[in-house]
Amino acid sequence: METPATPTPDPLDPVRQEIDDADRQLIQILARRFDAVKRVGGVKHASPTAPLLDTERERRVQASWVQDAESQGLSAAFARRILREVLNHSRRLQESFIETRQGLGRAIKVGYQGVKGAYSSQAAAHLMAMRSKAETRIAGYATFQEVVEALLGGELDYGLLPVENSIGGSILDVNRLICDRDLHIVDEEIWGVEHVLAGKPGAPLSALKSVRSHPAALTQCDTFLRGLEGVEREPWFDTAGAAASVLDVADGSVGAICSEEAAISYGLDILARGIADQDRNETRFLLLARSPETPDPRLHCKTSLLFRLNHHEGSLARALGVISAAGANLTRIESRPQPETPWEYLFFVDVEGHAESPALAGALHQLRTCCNHLRVLGCYPSRTVRQDRHLDLDLPTPEAKLDIVEVCPVAPPAPAAPAGASRPDRTKGALRIGGSTFGEGHFVLISGPCAVESLPQIVEAARMVRAAGGTLLRGGAFKPRTSPYAFQGLGLEGLRFLKEAGRQFDLPVVTEVLTIEDIPAVVAHADVLQVGARNMHNFALLKELGRVDKPVILKRGMSATVKELLLAAEYILAGGNQQVILCERGIRTFETATRATLDVSSVPVLRRLTHLPIIVDPSHAAGDRELVIPLALAAAAAGADGLIVEAHPKPEEALCDKEQALTREDLALMVAGLRPIVAAQGRAWS
Ligand code: PEP
Ligand code: MN
Repeated sequence: METPATPTPDPLDPVRQEIDDADRQLIQILARRFDAVKRVGGVKHASPTAPLLDTERERRVQASWVQDAESQGLSAAFARRILREVLNHSRRLQESFIETRQGLGRAIKVGYQGVKGAYSSQAAAHLMAMRSKAETRIAGYATFQEVVEALLGGELDYGLLPVENSIGGSILDVNRLICDRDLHIVDEEIWGVEHVLAGKPGAPLSALKSVRSHPAALTQCDTFLRGLEGVEREPWFDTAGAAASVLDVADGSVGAICSEEAAISYGLDILARGIADQDRNETRFLLLARSPETPDPRLHCKTSLLFRLNHHEGSLARALGVISAAGANLTRIESRPQPETPWEYLFFVDVEGHAESPALAGALHQLRTCCNHLRVLGCYPSRTVRQDRHLDLDLPTPEAKLDIVEVCPVAPPAPAAPAGASRPDRTKGALRIGGSTFGEGHFVLISGPCAVESLPQIVEAARMVRAAGGTLLRGGAFKPRTSPYAFQGLGLEGLRFLKEAGRQFDLPVVTEVLTIEDIPAVVAHADVLQVGARNMHNFALLKELGRVDKPVILKRGMSATVKELLLAAEYILAGGNQQVILCERGIRTFETATRATLDVSSVPVLRRLTHLPIIVDPSHAAGDRELVIPLALAAAAAGADGLIVEAHPKPEEALCDKEQALTREDLALMVAGLRPIVAAQGRAWS
């Protein structure tokens, strides 16, 4: 009988034991470090103004860490890499200490694109755990678009979408969604992508005939895949989806490139690690919400902007100059074409800084004067702080906050300055429509009938306006009449006639938009959209016009104060559209001798308060042809940037506002009176 052989001891066992012990200690030491970090966070939290990030301290930590590592025979590069992770995590711990968010009283729902185990789902889980202690439910959706629909529809509280990758660059579909939909960026996450090759349990690498993955992942592992002879690449919708699909194949001939987590969660074997061409591969994700959030002022923040410039020489340089003058570091700039206006671009810009800090808020205010469209997409904690940069935290102030909330009226009223002398600067970014310039140094005449009545009528009116020196044609197609029985306008047909008349005489056309539903048709036919006095308080309409890419003439409501007019303008500006022209058209007072009382003083008052161009409508203020010319002259003398005046080829036949419509002769007379005033002001008739 044989005695069982005593197993020979593996000489590696004690060494492995030592490694396991060291690992355990590493974990304990890290936990100890992070615990101390949290305590530091607590102390910082107690001070409402002390910045969270102490770059000097981080620099010292790094120096001694590298020195210690080298004295132990470790490479400096390796030590720095480990420290980067440790410091990032430490910073995030302190940030989450400060950022304690109130729960919603229920689980927070976050959506991402992909299936379980996708890089997006890992990034979402990590970010949400850092942001809040509240219970979070994370759900995968098939497409980016579906995430956005679920978010806007209220099914989700947040959506986390990848916006750029350190190798592949910008993710266009996500940028497009952010641009087109009403989304706000409230946080970001940087997630390291580490691909592995995974296969069916037990199947060897040599059995592989094809490898599935997202096309970007296949490209990122190009060199490795080329080394696998005879193995085909199969593009798949998503890396984790590819991992899941491997199980459905009967044999072990299909592998997937995915994250280690995805491989583990689908029970796959890991066949190879470190397979990507680039060592560092990171994806930047944006956390999107339905409404903006204001981050704690002590956090180092980023502000994301979207702007469109007018097509003038040097406009991009000017806009970037405003940012650089504020001392704000630009971390990303990207342009996106606009299909509806070929060769014009939207710019996505990320800058370091809190949107409510004095410097950045000031820059945003100034940017408004040189952009046709400007939207603050969000201000959120920056997760990409570089250790090599010294950061001076520009703390937000209550005054700066006002700048964001009410950009329009914020320019400080100049003390007792003469009218016109102290206007906030608009000269550099004056609004141009066709050949006309609205703003400092110019005077514009818009004229035409109250309503478009027929093609011959509006064509004749256009001829009249052109002959008189007018440069834009007005005409209502949708009329807001006091009586429901009065002529309501020709609607869509009127828009077509107006456009045709404008085309024949090379006059950009202005027409009123009454409802949100009419916006697309009016945008398609008109060069300038008018919001009538009765609609100045229609905030839903104003908000929608904030998203439109056409200039808007905003008329003062009949009983609106100057401040209310400016706040109404703010609704349009806040939505992004910076091309707003204010219009004084008379207000309702006890006086009944005129249709309304023209508030001439509003012109110099507005000039003090805003960079927006100001025009005057003497027609609706007067309601009487004979009074229109003197009021027009008064408006010009008061410093208006232009006039909008009703004129009709045959006023006696006009279907609407016939009493106030100027004749051809009146129009010529008015222009003759205006020219010397405009010239005396040193303005160009444009
Ligand atoms: C108009 O300009 O046609 C008009 C209706 O004016 P308001 O909105 O100022 O009354
Ligand atoms: Mn009218």
